[in-house]
Amino acid sequence: MKIDFESGRWEGAGLSCGTKTIGDLAPYYSATASDLEDLVVYETFGVQEAEPADAMMATTVLQAGLVGEEFFMTRGHFHVNPARGETCVILRGSGVLVLANRENEWRAEEMSRGSVHVIDGSWAHRVVNVGTEPLVFLVTWMSDCGHDYASIEAKGFPVRILSSGDSGYRIEPR
Ligand code: MN
Repeated sequence: MKIDFESGRWEGAGLSCGTKTIGDLAPYYSATASDLEDLVVYETFGVQEAEPADAMMATTVLQAGLVGEEFFMTRGHFHVNPARGETCVILRGSGVLVLANRENEWRAEEMSRGSVHVIDGSWAHRVVNVGTEPLVFLVTWMSDCGHDYASIEAKGFPVRILSSGDSGYRIEPR
């Protein structure tokens, strides 16, 4: 198999695993963009979930854009099993990795081409594209980590990553 770092697509055995639009992500944004509901925010490509537990790999292509002042971002999730971490390598673009634990502590890591991010399984993780080109990244995880999206949909992350209007970003409490 081979990954195209520009497009995030796989040559060989890669599959399209999912697409999220602005409409799908509406619960996560403070602003609304009801006229743009069908616009794709991100797509994921990789291999199918393995049984029994196995190491997994996928790429995500997160487009550049804003909903109100808030940058395009992934939903973010906790792992059900906090002993299962994850690693992330940036292939193209620039972004921010937002991390938060269940005590509402948070951290943000800058992401740029070649940066490697080691995610503790007890911290929720979300990727935000703060650049002007697609943000393409490769993620590895164990298939039995379990994905808890509901906690984020209910409570969100403690901070939002907003445009500062001059091609930079600012971090504000939710
Ligand atoms: Mn994860």
